Amino acid sequence: MKATLTRLFDGAMRGRTMYVIPFSMGPVGSPLSHIGVEISDSPYVVVNMRIMTRMGRRVLETLGSGDFVPCLHSIGAPLEPGQKDVSWPCNKDTKYIVHFPEERTIWSYGSGYGGNALLGKKCFALRIASNMARDDGWLAEHMLILGVQNPEGEKTYVCAAFPSACGKTNFAMLIPPAAYNGWKITTVGDDIAWVRPGKDGKLHAINPEAGFFGVAPGTSDKTNPNAIASIRANTIFTNVALTPDGDVWWEGLTDDPPPELIDWQGQKWTPDCGRKAAHPNARFTAPASQCPVIDENWENPEGVPVSAFIFGGRRGTTVPLIYQATNWYFGVYLAATMGSETTAAAFGQQGVVRRDPLAMLPFCGYHMGDYFNHWLQMGRNLSNPPRIFGVNWFRKDKDGKFMWPGFGDNMRVLEWIVNRVHGRAAAVESPLGWMPRYRDMNWEGLDFSKEKFRQIMQIDSEAWKTELLSHEELFEKLYDKLPKEFSHMRELMLSVLWRSPTHWELSPERYAEEH
Ligand code: GDP
Ligand code: MN
Repeated sequence: MKATLTRLFDGAMRGRTMYVIPFSMGPVGSPLSHIGVEISDSPYVVVNMRIMTRMGRRVLETLGSGDFVPCLHSIGAPLEPGQKDVSWPCNKDTKYIVHFPEERTIWSYGSGYGGNALLGKKCFALRIASNMARDDGWLAEHMLILGVQNPEGEKTYVCAAFPSACGKTNFAMLIPPAAYNGWKITTVGDDIAWVRPGKDGKLHAINPEAGFFGVAPGTSDKTNPNAIASIRANTIFTNVALTPDGDVWWEGLTDDPPPELIDWQGQKWTPDCGRKAAHPNARFTAPASQCPVIDENWENPEGVPVSAFIFGGRRGTTVPLIYQATNWYFGVYLAATMGSETTAAAFGQQGVVRRDPLAMLPFCGYHMGDYFNHWLQMGRNLSNPPRIFGVNWFRKDKDGKFMWPGFGDNMRVLEWIVNRVHGRAAAVESPLGWMPRYRDMNWEGLDFSKEKFRQIMQIDSEAWKTELLSHEELFEKLYDKLPKEFSHMRELMLSVLWRSPTHWELSPERYAEEH
């Protein structure tokens, strides 16, 4: 790769300005932070990095002669003397986004967009950082961080890992339903968490980023009012549409589209033209400090104490709304085998489950088997580890409709989680761990029947046998480095399922008694 890239980088920036960008991932000077220096020929990268990271003189002064991650980036579009630039330059034919974990460097060539070019984000804060974390005993994760404050003023922080487009930004900025008067949800981060053991035997998390790089389409005052408030000023919009008076627009921002627009490619657009006005992956880049519910500790150099890890994907069937792993090890198993279903629109066959361990498949910078072992090892060294939970907002009924209202009502699940970690909420045993009964959750202000709850919490034995057998497919790929515990845990769960011949659920008599 070095030979290939050295050839490509030779003269790659000709005719352009070269920028040197010193940046800190995490609050400047925090013991949990790390510094990078990106070299780039893209002003788009500079202004975005200015929002997404702490950047500039302060970082250089803190760095002194210390260690940093060198990040080399070129759009790979040199200009000949007198040649006119194009509006969105990149290299049409050749793109390489390369990480050298053994020397902790990043070389990115030919692309000007998002994660390929803003090298602090996925490249550094996840792929390279996961390497550092393995070596130094911490975790770099694809997780949001949020705070829950109850009416008594008690504050609990949780981290949640959902694969891309499964609701991280929404959950991080959750607005509790009206019945939750006196409760407050605050945002520490919406995408990445760096998590390190503290002297108190707990894990502590920081958000290494300083901004939100969110998907614009679908974001509106109805779906995520806190995101909309965050982007009112000082925000960069990428590949959105423009209104005649110079404002921005994207699909889903308003119920009715404006009568005319300039689309993301600079062409005239009308509602009946048959094209999308904004690119489906159009983005906003906004300072996190502008979020109305940003947490008071979001820049605390010590991070925030983590009480729970929540894992979830998009599963139309099989996986219940909420369950708690029996212990750290079963929790790591649940996280390692989490999956998301493909949708009919994107991939021919509907309902195909793709495993995305800890939502890190595209972002883990080393062997997944070693990564699972690192997670197991972290738990062995903690006297007070976070409790681990599985959630699924996306289970569907016979008619293909989501059974769970989701969004703000996810607060009800979150309340049970918070009460569990403080030893206040009841639960019953299930083959997957601990699950709430109907009466263990707060239903005030929501019409959700016991029968619906029974359906959304159901563990179908046959479906779960198939599910557990399909884990083998993932395990086989990681065979030489798979933690030996995993095969035993799979066997244990299978044996529990075999206890009941058809469906695992509370028997009708016990169900009546339990509720
Ligand atoms: P991220 O990419 O993980 O940050 O996901 P987003 O928060 O941007 O959400 C991705 C998509 O999932 C959006 O279309 C949301 O409207 C949708 N979504 C988020 N939370 C929920 C939920 O609780 N229920 C349902 N049904 N959809 C949700
Ligand atoms: Mn997001």
